[in-house]
Amino acid sequence: MSFNIPSLDELVTRLSHLPGIGRKSAQRLAMYILKSGDGYSDQLVNAILSVKENTQMCKRCFNISENELCSLCSDPRRDGHKICVVEDIVDVMAIEGSREYSGLYHVLGGVISPLAGVSVNDLKITSLVDRVEREDIKEVLLALNLSTEGEATMIYISQLLQSKNIEVTRIAHGVPMGSHLEFVDQTTIGRAIAGRQKL
Ligand SMILES: [Zn+2]
Repeated sequence: MSFNIPSLDELVTRLSHLPGIGRKSAQRLAMYILKSGDGYSDQLVNAILSVKENTQMCKRCFNISENELCSLCSDPRRDGHKICVVEDIVDVMAIEGSREYSGLYHVLGGVISPLAGVSVNDLKITSLVDRVEREDIKEVLLALNLSTEGEATMIYISQLLQSKNIEVTRIAHGVPMGSHLEFVDQTTIGRAIAGRQKL
């Protein structure tokens, strides 16, 4: 169904490209924006532009940041001897929500997936090894999503780090196979981190 109003249809189309938003939801959102006061639509546009303009990847861990170093990397209370390796920025938020981990992170930007055309060089793996060599790291905790690709990537990284004289651990199996960390409840993530196993 189309409204036959080009500007409104364009807004619906753009909104329907957002993850989890189908055409019907996009229409509801577009109608809400249309009916809202100018204040709201201006704030929405400004928030979108601002997040694109003002954020960058942390140059150390590749988390999202408004500065060269993210708030976690620049927090002196974090345990600088531990790195938790995750797939995506949303996984940092999920693990932080569990309050079970107080070290640093390293965001890979995906997992090795030959079928999806993602190779080792597309991910922040070399920079992880660099950090382990340069920083005073004692433990690397692998917390990738438990998919076949996530498992293969954890094995690959653990083999790379084998000779580095550090402890390499992975989150416990409390997290169901195939699940994405961002959708797992915080208690389960907390338990999986607390019960992490040596590799
Ligand atoms: Zn950082």
